[in-house]
Amino acid sequence: MRLVMASANAHKALEIAEILTDHDIEPRPRDLGEVVEDEKTLEGNARLKAVAVCARTGVPAVADDTGLEVDALGGLPGVRSARFAGESATDAENLAKLLDVMREIPESKRTARFRTVALVAFPDGHEVLTHGVVEGVISSQPSGIGGFGYDPVFVPNEGRGLSFAEMEPEEKNLISHRGRAFRLLAKMLAD
Ligand code: IMP
Repeated sequence: MRLVMASANAHKALEIAEILTDHDIEPRPRDLGEVVEDEKTLEGNARLKAVAVCARTGVPAVADDTGLEVDALGGLPGVRSARFAGESATDAENLAKLLDVMREIPESKRTARFRTVALVAFPDGHEVLTHGVVEGVISSQPSGIGGFGYDPVFVPNEGRGLSFAEMEPEEKNLISHRGRAFRLLAKMLAD
């Protein structure tokens, strides 16, 4: 199937393209302005992005919206993960803020999860939506140079004690929130 990428994040687009290998994925149109992600849920934001790109191109559009939920912070940063340290915060600023607000939290209470909503919006208005979750803990120091975003401090329970940033991309994809959501999406598209 021909799909157009609705996520502007190049790291994500690469991870998604590595999973949806049976589909012909076109890049997000360059001249499409930023879509303001002002919905209160991951589903709402994924839908905003996919519907905007589908309406513009007339091609089914695939989007991802992801949040990091930290139990000790009552589920924050959650849907605000990209803007945790401010409206135009960088990944490094968001990560530094997370470590700062968690500096007093002991190891046993640093549980967290990544949650992804993957969504394809079709020109006729229907959509396919899936979820993916990975459980883990937030380390007190960053480690590793791979991945992006909060990867250097997220240590998945299934990951041999390594952070996502210490893994090869294939290993991250195999257990990650995004890997799970998009493999399910691929299966639903095939069905
Ligand atoms: P969004 O889905 O683009 O809104 O991303 C939310 C925030 O989570 C951004 O700060 C991303 O950098 C971060 N993020 C999204 N996916 C991942 C991931 O797979 N690993 C680490 N951080 C991520």
